[in-house]
Amino acid sequence: MTLPTTTPASRRTALRGDLLDFVGAPEWGAVDSPAVRFRADHWLLIDGGRIAGTQPGAQPPDASWTVHDHRGRLILPGFVDTHVHSPQIDVIASYGTALLDWLETYTFPAEQRYADRSEAEAGAARFLDALLAHGTTSAVVFPTVHKHSADALFAAAQERGMRLITGKVLMDRHAPDGLRDDVDQAARDCVDLIGGWHGKDRLAYAVTVRFAPTSTAAQLAMAGRLCAAFPGVYMQTHLAENRDEVAWVCELFPEARSYLDVYERAGLLNARGVFAHGIWIDDADRAALRDAGAQIAHSPSSNLFLGSGLFGWRAAAAAGIHVSLASDVGGGTSLSMLRTLADAYKVQAMAGERLTAWKALHASTLGAAKALGLAREIGSLGVGCAADVCVWDWAVGPVAQRRIEVAQSLHERVFAWMTLGDERNLVASYVAGMKRYEGVLR
Ligand SMILES: [Zn+2]
Repeated sequence: MTLPTTTPASRRTALRGDLLDFVGAPEWGAVDSPAVRFRADHWLLIDGGRIAGTQPGAQPPDASWTVHDHRGRLILPGFVDTHVHSPQIDVIASYGTALLDWLETYTFPAEQRYADRSEAEAGAARFLDALLAHGTTSAVVFPTVHKHSADALFAAAQERGMRLITGKVLMDRHAPDGLRDDVDQAARDCVDLIGGWHGKDRLAYAVTVRFAPTSTAAQLAMAGRLCAAFPGVYMQTHLAENRDEVAWVCELFPEARSYLDVYERAGLLNARGVFAHGIWIDDADRAALRDAGAQIAHSPSSNLFLGSGLFGWRAAAAAGIHVSLASDVGGGTSLSMLRTLADAYKVQAMAGERLTAWKALHASTLGAAKALGLAREIGSLGVGCAADVCVWDWAVGPVAQRRIEVAQSLHERVFAWMTLGDERNLVASYVAGMKRYEGVLR
């Protein structure tokens, strides 16, 4: 159930459980990694919405702390989902299409419904409550082309105290009626939204280009000018998800060297850029992404479901690109980052690589936070960070229970949890120290 936003937060809360987070980036393939910080049976102390410290479970905090004893459970930083579409809950698990058909057949009609402001507001609340019910406390989100869809998402995130990055979607061509903007109006809307929301509480604006085919060159240039004029804002878009899409971009922008080059020429490639997918890219693109300090939001569930391709994580890592993980709902089939991590493992297995639980969990917590420039606020249980934390059961059901029991090492246990777990394992989600979700079964 979702708790009312008026629930009074005790300013000093202590949670007891097995604390897991990262103090660095794990090496590829290392099941024993000094980057992992695991503190079995500890208290996590939360004061005024921030993490104040930890102490061993055997030393209970004094009476000034409200205590919640989750002994035998896992406590992690809330997940960061770096690419997800709020209106697409309505089209999750839609049959039979690849990217371009899927957009036409399912996604655009769902996004047209958000022309109605009350639909957009109800959808924003439903979406953020769903994120919290899956253990995701921060996200980089696409709403729709409608200005009020971004307003609704910002307002709903503010109400919940969440760290959220979003912006009105830009698309002025190759989209149906009701989903196209124009360059001048879109620029005015973006400037208004940046003025109204960017830097307010835990909110940040992202210049949101759907993808190159749905923006004219003039609109891409306008988006680039916004990034230059407001250097603190993020930029999010899609990049080289599917081969038909890449071919279409080549036709539409014959002057560009590659799909990424379309964005680079428009001034959209920068350290605050979040590029979803990045499957069909080459070494020159990887070097450009690395040099810019941009990140790829790897979306394995979506890539498998839409048959888009296998992301070359190893090549991206070797090139020095930040890689974070994303559900990409509704192309992805679950908001659960645990399901996403399990799919990421399978994608790498198909490519002949092995993804450790550490690498996967890091990319969806501290790694994502670092790539967003937010490591001092989210992604870890470090002292001073916002207390965005989730409490998880190690196992749900007899099969997972048995698997966890017989696990010999920490990595084996956490990998089994990651592979077998989902939102049913979630006991509670805290945002800035306030409980915003509690599992219904408990
Ligand atoms: Zn997407």
